[in-house]
Amino acid sequence: SATTRKRLVMGNWKMHGSLAANAKLLDGICAGVAAVHNSDIAVCVPFPYLAQARDNLRGTGVSWGAQDVSVHEQGAYTGEVSAAMLNDFACQWVLVGHSERRSLHAETDEQVAGKALAALKADITPVVCVGETLEEQQSGRTTEVIARQLAPVLALGADRVAGLVLAYEPVWAIGTGLTATPEQAQAVHAFIRGRLAELGAPQVRVLYGGSVKASNAGSLFAMEDIDGALVGGASLVAEEFLRIAAA
Ligand code: PGA
Repeated sequence: SATTRKRLVMGNWKMHGSLAANAKLLDGICAGVAAVHNSDIAVCVPFPYLAQARDNLRGTGVSWGAQDVSVHEQGAYTGEVSAAMLNDFACQWVLVGHSERRSLHAETDEQVAGKALAALKADITPVVCVGETLEEQQSGRTTEVIARQLAPVLALGADRVAGLVLAYEPVWAIGTGLTATPEQAQAVHAFIRGRLAELGAPQVRVLYGGSVKASNAGSLFAMEDIDGALVGGASLVAEEFLRIAAA
């Protein structure tokens, strides 16, 4: 939350929504966004709704993005979506390496870094997600896991890394109602911040994610190295999402 890094609050809709529901949600967010001064606000929507997000959000101050991108530029990759395609819909952001992609689709740390690079080459800001599982946390391996996940990303070099956003999302806190305490989260954020400083990319924003809601956002944002939030469930209710951004 250092003053030099503007807060970013990003919704991750996951596989939720419909044209009708999204229209209401986006309207609700847009209606309240003028009252939020201290935070960038963004939503990452399912691929089929990128055109709707663009059409409803253009010029509103709310930016939009996707939840995944292919490491490949084009070709025989059935079901995949390239960074150039995201550019066609004016995406500013793309999530890469969300824990659900890592666990359900076996994405490796190297693939995640490759996706981040594909986005950067297309001038889309990747939001690279990292985080440890409950078992890893309980066996004291949190920083080891984060360091391993970050390694191929940091290997892209300071210039590339300066163009991305990181999100720390402890897997045990995602969708569980369990949030890391502000102090627990801050400890990991400080570790990540240290790695970024060593590399020479100190201005990279590091978001926290995992059961963020209006009632806990303020205490998380009060932490020195927490620069915003990646919000799942609570981003599906406009008022709650706006309260998080304003916390
Ligand atoms: P949650 O999801 O806020 O519903 O815990 C966060 C995320 O997975 O990005």
